[in-house]
Amino acid sequence: MNLQTKPPLLPPPPAALLKQFIDIVGQKYAVTDRDAQEPYLVEMRDLFHGITPVILRPGSVAEVSAILKLANEHKIAVVPQGGNTGLVGGQVPHRGEIVISLTRLNKIREIDPVSNTMTVEAGVTLQNARAAASDADRLYPQLLPSEGTCTIGGNMSTNAGGIAALVHGISRQHAVGLEVVLADGRVLNNLNKLKKDNTGYDLKNLFIGAEGTLGIITAVVLKLVPKPRSVETAWAAVTSPQAAVDMLGIATAHLASDVTSFEMMARNGIEAVMTHDSVSRDPLAKVYPWYILVEVSSQRTSGLREALEAILTEGVEKGLVLDATFAESLDQQKAFWRIRELFGEVQRLIGASIKHDISVPIAKIPEFIVEADKAIADLIPGTTTMPFGHVGDGNIHYNAMQPPEMSRQEFLNRWDDVNKVVFAIVKKYNGSISAEHGVGVMKRDILHIYKDPVALDLMRGIKQLLDPNGILNPGKVLPPG
Ligand SMILES: Cc1cc2nc3c(=O)[nH]c(=O)nc-3n(C[C@H](O)[C@H](O)[C@H](O)COP(=O)(O)OP(=O)(O)OC[C@H]3O[C@@H](n4cnc5c(N)ncnc54)[C@H](O)[C@@H]3O)c2cc1C
Repeated sequence: MNLQTKPPLLPPPPAALLKQFIDIVGQKYAVTDRDAQEPYLVEMRDLFHGITPVILRPGSVAEVSAILKLANEHKIAVVPQGGNTGLVGGQVPHRGEIVISLTRLNKIREIDPVSNTMTVEAGVTLQNARAAASDADRLYPQLLPSEGTCTIGGNMSTNAGGIAALVHGISRQHAVGLEVVLADGRVLNNLNKLKKDNTGYDLKNLFIGAEGTLGIITAVVLKLVPKPRSVETAWAAVTSPQAAVDMLGIATAHLASDVTSFEMMARNGIEAVMTHDSVSRDPLAKVYPWYILVEVSSQRTSGLREALEAILTEGVEKGLVLDATFAESLDQQKAFWRIRELFGEVQRLIGASIKHDISVPIAKIPEFIVEADKAIADLIPGTTTMPFGHVGDGNIHYNAMQPPEMSRQEFLNRWDDVNKVVFAIVKKYNGSISAEHGVGVMKRDILHIYKDPVALDLMRGIKQLLDPNGILNPGKVLPPG
């Protein structure tokens, strides 16, 4: 992906047609002013910057339907957008498409504690969805560092993972039913709460992870779980990524599915957080090369802390753990997570980084890091890496950092070269080049190298069936043409 290449712009809709679009939502909810549009057009790392004639902010499913019907009739391209926290450029109108922002669809339609489900509209933020579940004494077990801004519709459309996927799974496992507006404006009502429904093809899963290319998700039935009665969190220094993987094995042998999060972090990321976040404090007095953040939660009200201590003691005895500390309060637990969650943010502040959101079989994580570090250092001497992420899911955010002597632009110009050497190692281990962020435009042009050609053919066929005029997020996921 060449970040400098700007794709050719689409012809803007004629003024009379634009007015028809605006009339659907009303002037108040149609953003045409350039400055007011800015927050919708720029991606948080400033890697992508879009352009659009209008941002439409529909307030009902009927309005979404009317917009798509009109767009389809006139073959006008649209880009659905939730919280604009996506990391692969999928929500950005690169070619002057109309943006449909779903954030006004923000109602919690129903919470059903007996069925353990919650029906929410697409624009509800993840944080608000979790709070609503909590008020009903339930847990909505998805958690991303972007929870305050990202939306349930965006989570579903990217099939987001996050820091609690180890036990509870990714978005696909959280969605029981969906409501989707199709390209021609028809509304697919699949909002059931049923665990068992064998009445044909599983249409719901087509739209989850489709990044807005097959339909616009307007509501979701989410699966809830009982709120845990006890939660314990530990921050530990480990000798190496291999030690982190070994500790994951020890933790799950002790506590099985009570191990709800298992994250790994490299020291240079901690340093970056300590430098740029005035609130965070290093949890351990000494400096170590690698860290794990382990959270366990359970329905039992006692014994969990002792179980976590036993896990870390075994780690110390086996020479895997060098030091550890436990969260003694909710504030301390939040402080540990704050450090981990700031990893994405601080990278931006310490220079340019070339990102990879990869997954490999868990056992191969240590080899992957060693081999990728070497390949990158051979390619661009002086480049360091900052691996961190969801070790329990085999998912590492593996980011190469700009060498001090190289300019930001010079380094970013090597994006494709760095990707190439890293993805070759991912492929060798039968991994994925996009574990949780999606394809968007960032990985669109290389997808064919790593994806099974038959799967790619089927994807094209499904796109053609559901969006024959190619109006839904064109140029994302699948290469145009
Ligand atoms: C600090 C930070 C941390 C993050 N951590 C994680 C993480 O741990 N795990 C993870 O998976 N991701 C993570 N992300 C990425 C991002 O938050 C997720 O991809 C999230 O699911 C995007 O939600 P959104 O509402 O912001 O969607 P947007 O960014 O607005 O859109 C993302 C994609 O979904 C489409 N889309 C949005 N809403 C709809 C809809 N209603 N119907 C159809 N298509 C739609 C868009 O067209 C686009 O292709 C992180 C991002 C940040 C900034």
